[in-house]
Amino acid sequence: MTKHSYKAKVEHSKYNNARFSWLISFYVGRAEDVFSEDIRRVFVINLFASVGVLFTLPLGIGSLIEGKFVLGSLLLFVALLYAINHIYLRRTHNHNLSGKFVIYPLYVLMIYLMYTGGAKGTGHVWVFCVPAVSLFLHGMKRGMIELGIFTLALIVTMFFMNSHFTEFGYDPMLKSRIIFSFILVVFLSWIYEYSMSRFNQELKETSAKLKLVAYTDSLTELLNRRGMLQRLEASTYRSFHLILADVDFFKSINDEYGHDAGDYALIELSKIIQTSLSEGHLASRWGGEEFLIAVCDCSESQAIALAESIRQRVAEYEFVYLDQKFRMTMSFGVATMNEMISLREAITLADNHLYSAKRAGRNQTRSS
Ligand code: GH3
Ligand code: MG
Ligand code: MG
Repeated sequence: MTKHSYKAKVEHSKYNNARFSWLISFYVGRAEDVFSEDIRRVFVINLFASVGVLFTLPLGIGSLIEGKFVLGSLLLFVALLYAINHIYLRRTHNHNLSGKFVIYPLYVLMIYLMYTGGAKGTGHVWVFCVPAVSLFLHGMKRGMIELGIFTLALIVTMFFMNSHFTEFGYDPMLKSRIIFSFILVVFLSWIYEYSMSRFNQELKETSAKLKLVAYTDSLTELLNRRGMLQRLEASTYRSFHLILADVDFFKSINDEYGHDAGDYALIELSKIIQTSLSEGHLASRWGGEEFLIAVCDCSESQAIALAESIRQRVAEYEFVYLDQKFRMTMSFGVATMNEMISLREAITLADNHLYSAKRAGRNQTRSS
């Protein structure tokens, strides 16, 4: 990265941070680089609960002032519940339980509003926020079941329970229109949630495929250098042995038999290496004709013995490409990574030992 573009990137991220710093509180301490599904849920539940408090608190106080004791108390209770939910989410990050705190009081509040008509008969305008929240929090399957039950409860409340809705002088048709438009919003929210989840699924699959491509060597299908480093750095083993192997005089194989024969030889070598390893051992194509192997749960002498057995198998193998037959040898350097020697140091050590093996005449294994 050039100096200029680095500076621009820093400036840009500073600008972004400043711009969105007010949103950070809704992440409840989970502001990370990756906007994962979990973080997205925590963020939306928290945002919804906070906005919920902003609406229910003044509406609740207003209702109490107007003398509507039950509605006012219910709204204040929901405001309190949402505020507690925020604290609970901040402490535990448990969005599953927290989501239930958000959605079930919302269902009850909405049914109550539809029954009483709400403040001056405006209760029904709030009901349309239910589908999106329900589908987002409980997913398409459970969300749709709950919305089905909620719609039935709406119908029963409005048509069969002597609700106070008609007391506000609305046209009788409004009831059925509310139900129809509610079902339409459910349908639209379902389509949105469905397309979002399909999109997320495809994004996940593409990301997994890209990771695989980025970490795999296309010729030998072993891990490549990036993949190997990532696996080694992520390893929980405190100590393992590294075997760095390099083909002797590989350039002359290419020169004599052609580049395709060289490619074929690399594939055959990778098969020999892989079939020599036990489960839990890792092999990678470290560079052009260099392979790095990591072995754990064994002593250094066992790692050296493994390198020796691969060396012998390669030396005895007859490579046959089209009508050409040839033989090859490899040199090996073995080093150990442990509490005293870092991964990078161990790789350098293995490389030094490999260099010693080359200088000593090739087709041999060297270690400390
Ligand atoms: P040494 O014993 O000292 O290791 O000699 P060498 O010839 O093996 O080493 P050198 O580094 O001089 O040459 C390595 C060669 O490997 C050069 C390069 O063209 C070849 N090579 C690297 N990657 C590939 C590949 O993917 N396919 C083929 N066919 N050749 C490759
Ligand atoms: Mg070589
Ligand atoms: Mg080399």
